Amino acid sequence: MRQSMTLIPTLREVPADADVKSHQLLLRAGFIRQNASGVYSYLPLARRVLVKIEAIVREEMDKAGAVELLMPALQQADLWQESGRWYSYGPELMRLKDRNEREFALGATHEEVITSLVRDEVKSYKRLPLTLYQIQTKFRDEKRPRFGLLRGREFIMKDAYSFHSSKESLDDVYERIFTAYSNIFARCGLNYRAVIADSGAMGGKDTHEFMVLSDIGEDTIAYSDTSSYAANIEMAPVKASYEKSGEAERGLEKVRTENQKTIAEVSSFLNVNETQCIKSLLFKIDGRPVLVLVRGDHEVNDIKLKNLFEASTVELAEAYETKNILGCEVGSVGPIGVKNVEIVADHAVESIVNGICGANVEDFHYVNVNPGRDFEPSRYEDLRFIKEGDPSPDGQGNILFAKGIEVGHVFKLGTRYSEAMDALYLDENGKSQPMIMGCYGIGVSRTLAAIAEQFNDDKGFVWPEAVSPYQVHLIAVNTKDEAQSSLSETLYKSLGEKFEVLFDDRQERPGVKFADSDLIGLPVRVTVGKKAADGIVEVKVRKTGEVLEVQTDKLKETIS
Ligand code: ATP
Ligand code: MG
Ligand code: MG
Ligand code: MG
Repeated sequence: MRQSMTLIPTLREVPADADVKSHQLLLRAGFIRQNASGVYSYLPLARRVLVKIEAIVREEMDKAGAVELLMPALQQADLWQESGRWYSYGPELMRLKDRNEREFALGATHEEVITSLVRDEVKSYKRLPLTLYQIQTKFRDEKRPRFGLLRGREFIMKDAYSFHSSKESLDDVYERIFTAYSNIFARCGLNYRAVIADSGAMGGKDTHEFMVLSDIGEDTIAYSDTSSYAANIEMAPVKASYEKSGEAERGLEKVRTENQKTIAEVSSFLNVNETQCIKSLLFKIDGRPVLVLVRGDHEVNDIKLKNLFEASTVELAEAYETKNILGCEVGSVGPIGVKNVEIVADHAVESIVNGICGANVEDFHYVNVNPGRDFEPSRYEDLRFIKEGDPSPDGQGNILFAKGIEVGHVFKLGTRYSEAMDALYLDENGKSQPMIMGCYGIGVSRTLAAIAEQFNDDKGFVWPEAVSPYQVHLIAVNTKDEAQSSLSETLYKSLGEKFEVLFDDRQERPGVKFADSDLIGLPVRVTVGKKAADGIVEVKVRKTGEVLEVQTDKLKETIS
């Protein structure tokens, strides 16, 4: 590509409103321009990097057995109402009306659309498992769009969804996609770590995030200094207590309904008085809302129970906005002190907001997380606020902290969407069953920014080979010099047969060309200068700064 013909508007100054390196350099090197807060144009260089990241993503997803499709960004509200998320997703979901006043959302994610598609088209276990993905623009009205492409309001995501007739099949695909993600981020050259995550608004159980290690990351990772244990700090302590319980049955299990406790028993257990127990359903520990639900189906009279749920629903709806709730249900299973405190998955909390009591829905509880043995309510703080130097929850080594940028996220959703939306299939015995689902996201535009964040020096970008917009930057120092001009034209053609070449044929001062070249940061620079008449050019490696003079007939082999 001739630089005179493309659009690479470089800037000398650091833009005032850009405070992280990737954002500054993407603007300065002419990769992106902002249109509105959190909304960007990808200029030709950025577009090329995106295409390369997407190619890697496609290759690895295809290898994992996923199939690409493309779904609409414009989504009917009806689907979101079916899943309940129309009400629970909050202001991040961009909503609009068509000319007939029908409500729509701009896709923030596609569980609803894909679940409705698959429920209509797949009816038998014989068609499962099925894993579909797309690469598409997503919309989220982020409260604080920032750091350029890292947190946009319009951004590019690869999202995949899998459908299964058994948990084993889900485990298998989860594993494959986990491997695909590891390959993708490694091929992009990123220094990343897969961490245990929180299930958040999606609802789910097993879930991991892929974090690019970076000081500007918004998430904190707690990791062991000796083992592979790593968790998002949001999740680490609860998981920790859960994983510590050696004989605990792991996972979520259908809730049992025997042995509920009275409010009195629960309040004494929690060390609060009865009124508090009912009224302070949502209390705070270190600023973090903790929801306590008391299930007193047998012992608590209906009015109390009704009030209790009404009160908690309102407060919960508010607290839920923060997406930072620790759900805790008291009094549903087993005798006090043994089995009666359960950590409720976040999607149970979500379903309570929607008026369905999570406690009655299968698959919504961690069972056998035992107070006293696994944690004590009064020691929540210790568990949720694990400190550097604490013993690692896996029993190996001590905890260290690092900051991370979430570039990918994999979830086992279970039947949360298929049940709400009736995505059913017929099993071997002709019995109707809800499909078991997984979902898997990669922030493609965020990955671009994360690479930009990791690969730069004081002069500009230093793109890793695999995703560099071009491989070679060919520079004619003085285009008015006949020898330089004709040799660079010849090299542009011949190098172009083997490499992707950006050719600086502009009539600019050499200083400008070199500064732009460093800023853009392609792996290799070939400079055609004074020795052009002798057939000699200069080759410079961007990463090491190494410089060689090369005869043009040796050029191709030198570069490769
Ligand atoms: P975050 O915690 O950063 O808000 P998220 O957990 O809300 O991200 P997911 O719903 O897991 O995001 O979406 C899958 C992927 O999409 C994320 O792992 C991230 O890489 C990317 N992503 C999410 N929000 C944004 C955004 N506002 N801008 C760019 N990429 C994003
Ligand atoms: Mg988010
Ligand atoms: Mg997140
Ligand atoms: Mg996430």
